[in-house]
Amino acid sequence: MSVQTIRQQAKTLWTLYTARNPVYMILYLTSRCNFRCPMCFYLEEIKDPNKDEIAFPELRKMSKSMGRMIHLSLTGGEPFLRHDIPEVVNIFVHGNGVRFITIPTNGSLTDQVMATVERLVSDHPRTHFRIPISLDGYPDDHDAIRGAKSFDKLEVTAKALAGLRDRVSNLSVDINTCHSSLNDGKLRGFVDFVADRFDVDNHTVTYVRGNADDETKNASVREYRQLVEDLRRRQAPVESRPFSSILRAVTDYQKDIIDRTLAKDQMYVPCMAGRKMIVVNEKAEVMPCEILNKRMGRLAEHDYSIKRLLDAPQAVDLVKWIRKTKCHCTFECALATSIIYHKASYPKIFWRALNLRGRRQRRAEGRPASRPAANPQLVQLNTDGLNA
Ligand code: SF4
Ligand code: SF4
Repeated sequence: MSVQTIRQQAKTLWTLYTARNPVYMILYLTSRCNFRCPMCFYLEEIKDPNKDEIAFPELRKMSKSMGRMIHLSLTGGEPFLRHDIPEVVNIFVHGNGVRFITIPTNGSLTDQVMATVERLVSDHPRTHFRIPISLDGYPDDHDAIRGAKSFDKLEVTAKALAGLRDRVSNLSVDINTCHSSLNDGKLRGFVDFVADRFDVDNHTVTYVRGNADDETKNASVREYRQLVEDLRRRQAPVESRPFSSILRAVTDYQKDIIDRTLAKDQMYVPCMAGRKMIVVNEKAEVMPCEILNKRMGRLAEHDYSIKRLLDAPQAVDLVKWIRKTKCHCTFECALATSIIYHKASYPKIFWRALNLRGRRQRRAEGRPASRPAANPQLVQLNTDGLNA
């Protein structure tokens, strides 16, 4: 590990534990999408998209009002429908030193995705980019949920991204599967299918949530558990992300917490949403998360200063309410962020990180030092609220 890498990682840890502002922001760049997936928790907004999307002067003010940040998710809708993603990224990398950027996609806009990601990885070599592509089942099942030919299109995008990833050191390509009643009972062997067909770094599974149509929410917890077990078994031996063992251990632990939350309906880790993580939608409204139907405030009323908005009574009261009610849910991003700040979880995280590392080394034995041909995977930190 080079001196520069060690310095960067030390800076990331310092930011994580000393920052007074949120270190993770999920930013909805658009509510436009070229798909209409029935289990989408943003479907109402997507059907009637907001024309006035948050623009540069406002984004610059937001950035100036925040300190250093670690992680930014640019989401939607389909974020790649916005052609100014590189300019948005410039604002937060230069202004807030963001180290990790995630941009989920439905994978249908290959040319736009590739043009954007090629520029990002080259313009910001010290920032790690992660592109999760949504895949909800075997080809016919996926197309039935997301639209005709959507599997073929995302496969082309995934291949092109994997090719780029092999030429750079700051890109991960993932598959994310939303487990809902639409694919419930149809995912047997699916983790192996993805591992054998897609050369990606991680395969994540999210449990349908939020404002999704109630009819899509009846996914079996038992099948979810099986998927998580399958993902553990097919864990990737190689990944270039900084802290990848720890991040994977956090996500592995997070899946156990989700399982227990679903079974017992109670809080296991105090939620840091609204404190260390915030969500800003394309109308510049700030929320602690995408699950609670509660706003911390509107940025327009605070001259687009995140700091001022978070210090105002409406936001302070909501944070107190989250703490007092022991609010709990299965939102992966919030849980992962909360686990990172939950000291009682550290022994479990480090133990899992060691185990995962050992397993990875054993799996890598006999393989070439470079990336293996087919690259199965395990879930990773922050499944990013997605959509797309
Ligand atoms: S527990 Fe879930 S619903 Fe409650 S504030 Fe945290 S992320 Fe939102
Ligand atoms: S789930 Fe993703 S692709 Fe589907 S409608 Fe929602 S934002 Fe669009």
